[in-house]
This record gives sequence, structure tokens and C-alpha cells, in this order.
Amino acid sequence: MVSASAAMLASAATSEGDEGGESLHRVSWRREVPVRYEADVAVVGGGIAGVSAACAAAKSGAKVVLVERFAVTGGNCTVGGVGAFCGETAGQGEVFDAIVADLEKWHAIAPYKPYPKADNRVFDHEILAVVLQELLLRRNVKLLLHTRFVDVCVDGGRITECIVCGKSGPEALRARQFVDCTGEAEVARAAGFETVKGRPGDHVQLPMSLMYFVRHVPESKRRAQVPEGWFEAIRDKGDLPMTSVWPNGPGGNALKIKIPLFDSTDTESMTAAEIRARRRMMEVLDYYQRVEKKPWLLDHASPRIGIREGQRVVGDYVLTIDDLRAARRFDDAIARGVYYLDAHKPDDDKRTYILSPEQRRVPPYQIPLRCLLVRGAKNLMVAGRCLSADQLALSSARVTTTCSMMGQAAGIAANLASRERCDARNVDPLSVRREVEARGAVLGC
Ligand SMILES: Cc1cc2nc3c(=O)[nH]c(=O)nc-3n(C[C@H](O)[C@H](O)[C@H](O)COP(=O)(O)OP(=O)(O)OC[C@H]3O[C@@H](n4cnc5c(N)ncnc54)[C@H](O)[C@@H]3O)c2cc1C
Repeated sequence: MVSASAAMLASAATSEGDEGGESLHRVSWRREVPVRYEADVAVVGGGIAGVSAACAAAKSGAKVVLVERFAVTGGNCTVGGVGAFCGETAGQGEVFDAIVADLEKWHAIAPYKPYPKADNRVFDHEILAVVLQELLLRRNVKLLLHTRFVDVCVDGGRITECIVCGKSGPEALRARQFVDCTGEAEVARAAGFETVKGRPGDHVQLPMSLMYFVRHVPESKRRAQVPEGWFEAIRDKGDLPMTSVWPNGPGGNALKIKIPLFDSTDTESMTAAEIRARRRMMEVLDYYQRVEKKPWLLDHASPRIGIREGQRVVGDYVLTIDDLRAARRFDDAIARGVYYLDAHKPDDDKRTYILSPEQRRVPPYQIPLRCLLVRGAKNLMVAGRCLSADQLALSSARVTTTCSMMGQAAGIAANLASRERCDARNVDPLSVRREVEARGAVLGC
């Protein structure tokens, strides 16, 4: 048993007001929980970065546990309903190659075209959930689904256990190395390491968006779904939030709507974001049904809103927009990005961007291993959209292809650290780079 103390101080409900979100009353709680799982490498968060990290570490022979709070892995690519790999899909490394090869076997991905000839490659996100699950199981990754990371035990900068809570209740997961792929730096934050979010100054994050799906019905079945008076009617196209509409197989469309100005790190703000998103979804659908007379009915919405930017760690190096523009080379490069700066303006819900189209282009750039090493942590790395980067650098590096590359590198590095019984930052970065390249990742710019 370990004592799950908890860095967590749970706020008690109070009748004395709640100014600034800080409850006046606090309680502390601690309990003993069993160490049910032990691993060489524990990966927290099963998005594309987490799956890639787990698969890469397992390929190296590590005993790997992957913790995911939802029923399937894939994160934003599955549960978030995003069905396109942006950027370059070749040369991302063997894990990504395996994912693409499996999607091809299922006829569930568009043919390859190099970036920027095509800037994305569409896939079927429901099939991806199956493909990722089977890939993890083939590599003997121990998968814990419906299991949420809640806390850590830390000893002098070293995480000894994560506390996870699945259907059996709270339990401890002990590992030599941890990789935080929560997209929100949740492990780093719970462990007390420095994290940042949003733009400098006011910390406003890149906007969220909800993906939802409509099916086409025969003209005779066309109807408006929203009962009169439920939500605000949109009568003019100019009043729509930024709405992207794509084909979604025969007889369907996918829609993406922009939901700005919510904070992905705050319980009440996230609740408000989901409520707002579902209301906007119905308002936008109502516009298409009533005004544009589209024969569409709601099929389903992604169970969670898509978060472009959560919390990021402060790593041994912070990747900046200047690094991207200068295509800066790093000896310890472990990933490469090519995608433009997809920095949606955070302040409004229109199709607006922080930068002009010319300013959004960047040359291919490298990401050093140091961006995955959490400052002050001995055995914690990150991969994916919670890497150490400024907001604009993140707006490119967050795409799935680059997240997978980072994940593969983190898995390789975590296995090396576990095998050599050393701190993550004491692993020879050139060995990591060599292995990353040996596994098919193209780092040259
Ligand atoms: C609306 C939208 C559209 C996008 N469109 C594209 C696109 O077309 N192409 C593209 O390439 N990229 C796109 N992106 C970006 C891309 O989808 C994401 O940045 C990328 O998928 C992030 O991968 P990740 O693994 O880092 O994080 P995520 O996909 O967010 O995965 C994090 C995982 O961690 C899990 N997790 C979090 N907290 C916990 C916890 N406490 N315990 C257990 N598990 C936890 C989550 O459930 C999730 O599975 C889009 C993003 C958004 C929001």
C-alpha cells in the first residue's frame, strides 16, 4: 500500500462565498491504496502521443502500462472526432507507419500525398479506435481504460507512483519512468512542476472546437429539429460561429464549430464550454436546416469538446516561434514539424487567426528532446500537445503527426532511462536520436 496523499487538497463546499474560485474552507484527505500495477514505463493519456509512446517503449522491451480515462484510445483523433492527420504522414516513425498501414488494410484512410501537396490525410476515426487498441495489445501494452489519473506520490523530484482511479477505485501504479501524454500536463501539474497555459499576459488559450456529425435524409424527411424557443435562432450566415463542413462518408457531413474563451484547466469553465458547445451545435444545425434547407439530421456529437491548447510543461528547453521560423537545428532533435501555424484567434468565434496567411507559414523545423523533459523532474517526460513550447510554436507542433513523433521519442527515451536506471535527462540524447531515426523518423529539414 502507498499513502496517496495527496498533493490534493480537496475544497469543501462552503456557504461563505467563493471569491476568485478559492474556497475559504479546505479539507485534506489521505488514504492507503494498493500498488496494483508495476511497470518500467507508465504512460498517462492514450491520445496519439500516448499510444505512440507506449508502443515505442514496448517495442524496446519495456513493461508498459497505459492509463486512459475514456473507453478507447486515440484522444482527440477518436473521442474528439478529428478525422484527419495534418502535416506530413510519411517519415513520422514506425509507430505512425504501423497505424497508417493498419488503416490502409481497413480501407479507412485517404491515399498518401506529400505535404504540402496535401495538408491533411483523412481517416475514419471509428476505425482508428480499433486499430490503436489492437496495435497496443499486439505489443503487450497493459491497457487501463475508464481509468483516470488523479494524483502522484513524489519524492525529491522523482515520481514513485501515480494514483489512478478506475472502476475498482483508487489504486497505485508504480513505475521507473512516467510519460505525461494527457494533453494537459496533468501529471506534471499534480506533481508540482511548473506549467503554463495560453498566451503571454492573460493566459487565454487557443479556442476549443466541437466536432459533430449529420446524416443526410431524403427530401421528404427533411425537417428542423430544434423546437421553437429553445435556443437563439441564427438567421444570417454572418452570425454563424466559424463553422467548417466536410463530407463524412456517403450521406453525411462532419461539422466543426469554434467555441472560444474557455479554460481547459478549470472544472467550471470546462463544464460551461461543453454546455455552450452543445447549444451552439444545435443553433448552427438549426440555421442549416431552416435557412439553407439542408436535408440534415443530427447523427452524433463527439462526447467531448476538442481542446487545442491545454496546459504545457516548462521543460529543459522551451520551443519558440523564432526556432520554427529559423528552422533551428538541435543536436538532440527527436521530432520534426512541418505544419503551418494553425493559431486560431482566441478572442472571437469567427474564422480569425492570430497571424496573417503569410506569417503562418514555417519551414520544416526540429523539436529537441529537452522540450519533453520536465524541468525539475527526475523521471517524468511529456509528449504531444503538452510539450514545452510557446503558444505559437504549439499551434503547429500540436498536429497529430508531430504528436506521434514526439510520443515515439518519449517512449524510446523512457525505456532507455528505465533500463539504465538513470534519470530521464541523463539518457544520452544522441542515442535517443539515433534510435528515433533508426525507427524511420525523418528529422532532417
Ligand atoms: C477541434 C480540433 C481539430 C483539430 N484538427 C486536427 C486535424 O485535422 N489534424 C491534426 O493533425 N490535428 C488536428 N488537431 C490537433 C490534434 O488533434 C491534437 O493536438 C492531437 O490529437 C493531440 O494529441 P495528444 O495525444 O497530445 O492529446 P489528446 O488527443 O488530447 O490525448 C490526451 C489523452 O489523455 C487522456 N487523458 C487526459 N487526462 C487524463 C487523465 N487525468 N487520466 C487519464 N487519461 C487522461 C485523454 O482522454 C486523451 O485520450 C485538432 C484539434 C482540435 C481541438
